[in-house]
Amino acid sequence: MYDYHLHTSFSDDAETPMNEIIEAAIAAGLDGIALTDHFDPLYPDEDFPCLLDIRGYETALTAAKERYADRLPVAKGIELGLMPGEALNICRDVVRGYDFDFVIASIHSDKKHCIHQDSFHKGRTLAQIIERYYSLLLDSITTYKDYDVLGHLNVIDRYTKGFAPEDLYMPYVDEILRLAIADGKGIEINTSAFRYGLAKRGTPTPAILRRYRELGGELVTIGSDAHRARDVGAFLEEGEAMLRAAGLRRIAVYMNRKPALIKLPE
Ligand SMILES: [Zn+2]
Ligand SMILES: [Zn+2]
Repeated sequence: MYDYHLHTSFSDDAETPMNEIIEAAIAAGLDGIALTDHFDPLYPDEDFPCLLDIRGYETALTAAKERYADRLPVAKGIELGLMPGEALNICRDVVRGYDFDFVIASIHSDKKHCIHQDSFHKGRTLAQIIERYYSLLLDSITTYKDYDVLGHLNVIDRYTKGFAPEDLYMPYVDEILRLAIADGKGIEINTSAFRYGLAKRGTPTPAILRRYRELGGELVTIGSDAHRARDVGAFLEEGEAMLRAAGLRRIAVYMNRKPALIKLPE
């Protein structure tokens, strides 16, 4: 079992020190993890600016990877908050300038509003919200390619009133998946959906996961998106079940920005 989406106190919205997250993963009997703290340049929320002490973070990652090497493989990861425009240049410089094993690309905001804030949704119909969110993602990955997997692809579903029907979101998702696959990129199963009561919906939805496979994609990581020790490794089995249901039998893990596929137990 591999948990490839974990936050530590280096993230603005988490408080658990890195070593406690790693110890929790060892206690849970995991086979490998990626630490993926937030880096969202130009993030518009002043209370949680999502700035990252990138130098301190990378130094701590390197030390932790070495310290735990004989107990748990730790991938040095980062979760980028993409946004079309200047933020992409900042992301590019950071990913190039430091030695990461694994990079998640997510959308958390546009230039003015975070997707979880009312202001992102106010005055927009569901169709407009869906269009806005997926356009931010598609526009970002059309120019920005230095990432490994797309994080919580349909996370907007967590914040809309009612879920968008498949015929509303799938045209956007289809285009995003085609581009990601053509670029050799993966997607993730983010099992926080099970914690947030979105289990029936899923991140991604079963339809998205199936579509990714139909289009030829085979790189899928699973991550809890834990922000505290007790959620480390949570619902990974449910994540594996989602993968099987979509007709996939292997999960992806990354080191040195290169994927390896690991067969699920029979
Ligand atoms: Zn995220
Ligand atoms: Zn996250």
